[in-house]
This record gives sequence, C-alpha cells and structure tokens, in this order.
Amino acid sequence: MKDSYAVKPGTKVKLSDWDPEDTGDEFHSKKEAEKELERLRAKMRDLQEVMFAEDKHRLLIVLQAMDTGGKDGVIEHVMHGINPQGCQVTSFKVPTAEELAHDYLWRIHQAVPGRRYIGIFNRSHYEDVLVVRVHNLAPEKVWKQRYKQINQFEKLLSDTGTTILKFYLHISKDEQKRRLESRRDTPDKQWKFSFGDLKERQYWGAYMAAYEDALTRCSTPWAPWHIVPANKKWYRNLVIARTIVETLKSFDMKYPAPEEGVETAVVPD
Ligand code: AMP
Ligand code: MG
Repeated sequence: MKDSYAVKPGTKVKLSDWDPEDTGDEFHSKKEAEKELERLRAKMRDLQEVMFAEDKHRLLIVLQAMDTGGKDGVIEHVMHGINPQGCQVTSFKVPTAEELAHDYLWRIHQAVPGRRYIGIFNRSHYEDVLVVRVHNLAPEKVWKQRYKQINQFEKLLSDTGTTILKFYLHISKDEQKRRLESRRDTPDKQWKFSFGDLKERQYWGAYMAAYEDALTRCSTPWAPWHIVPANKKWYRNLVIARTIVETLKSFDMKYPAPEEGVETAVVPD
C-alpha cells in the first residue's frame, strides 16, 4: 500500500491525477485482504479500549464523499469492531431552522467528541463549501471565506487536543452509476435510492471542482485530507482502517496506573 494518501499541505489537488480504481500492490482481491482487515479491526479494538481507559485523547474522523461514495459502508465495515460506548457517529443533514439561525460551525462544534471518544462525522462542515457552493445556497463572498475559517476552527480543535483525520472517499462517475443501478435493482437497497441523487449527479463536474478546492485549501499540517481510492470497497476499508490504527498507535497510550495496593485487595463476601 502507498505510504499515505494524505494530501501534502500546500499542494494543488487535481482529482483526475488520483485513481479511484487504485488497489495498491499488496493484495489483489477482497478475499486476499480480508485477514488483514480483520487484524486491523482487532488492533483498533485494543487501542480504543486503552484510549477509553486513559481518558486523554480525542479523535475526530471526518467522512466526505459523493452520493454512494461509501460513507455508510466505512462506518459499518471499518468501525463495527469497536466498542459503541467509546464511539459517536453524527450525520449532518440539511440544516434545521435552528441550525441556520446560527453560524455554520455551531452544530459542528457541538458534535466534536470529548476526551476518550472517537467521533465520526458522516458529512461535515465541508458541506458548507460543497453543496452550498454548487447550489449557490450562500453568496460566493460568504462561502469563499469559509476555507480560512474552517482551517482556523480545525486549528483550534487541534491545539486543544483533538486529532483530526479527514477522508474523502474518491469514486468515479461510472462507479456511481453502477452503485445507483444496484440500489435501484436490489429490493433491500431500494430504500436508499433517491431521485435527489440522480439530480445531484448532474452536477458532478461542479462537485469535483468544489472538492478540489476544499482538498487543496484545507489540507493543513494539523488536519490533512486523505484521498482514499474508493471504487473497490475492500481497498477503501483497508486504507482507512490502516490510517486509523497508525494514528491511534501514535498516541502511545497506556492504561492508567491502578490504585495502590490493588494486587492484595481483599474483596469482601
Ligand atoms: P444523506 O447523507 O444522504 O442522508 O443526505 C444528507 C443531505 O444533506 C445531502 O444531500 C447533503 O448535501 C445535505 N446537507 C448536509 N449538510 C448541508 C448543509 N450544510 N447545507 C445544505 N445541505 C446540506
Ligand atoms: Mg444520500
């Protein structure tokens, strides 16, 4: 696997240079990669347990993608091993009236995980420079300022002890077509089929341009973006699981010291 799919801060992202079909050179199929994914999930489970006990770190995982890009799949297949008690998933939808009455980061800040928790954002504040930009939901003057505001917001989170991992799940337009058709044709998946997604698909080019800007301007040393090749689900899961495990390992955590005398404590009848 490539060392890292992180975007080096300061480099201009051109998504046509990033191959959504990429599967690295270590494994060639889902079956071959299965054991490795299981090993990584077990490792993640162990590390999360220490993280919860140590009560020192916060980890925020941001997932962004086009419709059908696999955000739900990552949450299901990568995170399913970890203890739900230490994990919070927040899905950001069209803002409510109350949310719109505040600044766009208000709802985001409230959902940032506290110490000892892993927080997962299914969509995020980046929608405010993606869908908002593509559909002119705010004037250009307004959304243009947001890249800087987002960087400053993430800097604040980072300075105060939150580690941020941002993943853009990169699928091709052809792959989206296949996935939408599969939703249409599979009874158990039809509930996920939305005519709105067909409409959004027509804005593919505008979304790619908006993503390129977000990935270019908001990949910072304190909160880099990762562009994850996501046409092949097994590889997408592997890349993300690996990045999360590496990040948790870098925390260099240990269980808190036990109370003195614990070894000889007598448990009363
Ligand atoms: P889903 O993730 O499929 O449940 O859809 C959620 C919808 O909410 C998507 O169409 C997003 O584009 C939309 N959404 C999320 N955040 C915002 C936002 N800040 N402004 C406008 N639409 C948003
Ligand atoms: Mg959707």
